[in-house]
Amino acid sequence: MNYGLKDKVALITGAGRGIGREIALALADEGCHIALVDVDENTLNQTASDIKSKDVKALALKADVSNSTEVEKVVDETYKMLGAIDILVNNAGITRDNLIMRMKDEEWDKVIAINLKGTFNFTKAVSRYMLKQRSGKIINIASVIGIGGNIGQANYSASKAGVIALTKSSAKEFATRNINVNAIAPGFIQTAMTEVINEEVKKKMLERIPLQRLGTVRDIADVVLFLASDKSSYITGQVIVVDGGMVM
Ligand code: NAP
Repeated sequence: MNYGLKDKVALITGAGRGIGREIALALADEGCHIALVDVDENTLNQTASDIKSKDVKALALKADVSNSTEVEKVVDETYKMLGAIDILVNNAGITRDNLIMRMKDEEWDKVIAINLKGTFNFTKAVSRYMLKQRSGKIINIASVIGIGGNIGQANYSASKAGVIALTKSSAKEFATRNINVNAIAPGFIQTAMTEVINEEVKKKMLERIPLQRLGTVRDIADVVLFLASDKSSYITGQVIVVDGGMVM
């Protein structure tokens, strides 16, 4: 335990699997008590039981991040059960790829609702507690696609560019209350989200990565630990790109 996070309370969205699960496990290893939020009850309960074995508290909270009523409920529940909310990681996200001319309304709306509005919903609900506490760390998981765009991902790139802008606005709005808000922009990380990409496209992506490997969920969790700790207390409103050098 190197980050001074023992007994802090962290809420992580999309924590059932992938990057969110690894972030939750890494924060638990540092002694944080964890509130896990996900739509999938099975993966949620599995992650919660893995965390409980680390001798910290874990709350499994089923909620859809795009539903503001559900979000307020799980945030209030976290505060009631764990007594504080020191760290928020807005990680839940989806893709619904299609070319613009073929993109259906639902594909656009769902991605914006979960990736962007979901991040807003949790930022708003948690800010009530963090502003009162006069401390907090908010970490938003964006994407390099939100910086550079991508063919077939107009909805996803717009949602992640929105997350980056939201990060900067909330960093400015909350700065006087000692709340740091930063974003991480992962590149190509090995999870279920990227498993569906075909081998040919994966090979091409690899050619564009100077460090010559795909990212791991741990690569992202390690940066979350830094941003959640006071080792990053003079950093706010920034986007940390974690992509093996793909975007420079
Ligand atoms: P993942 O493996 O698909 O995990 C995402 C988790 O979020 C899943 O457990 C999912 O539940 C949950 N989720 C989906 N919609 C939700 C909702 N409405 N409310 C609550 N939870 C919801 O994805 P990942 O690769 O770990 O990605 C995590 C984040 O990193 C996302 O924001 C993604 O955009 C970002 N990112 C990933 C990569 C990458 O290469 N993997 C690159 C850049 C950015 P289900 O299991 O039910 O789907």
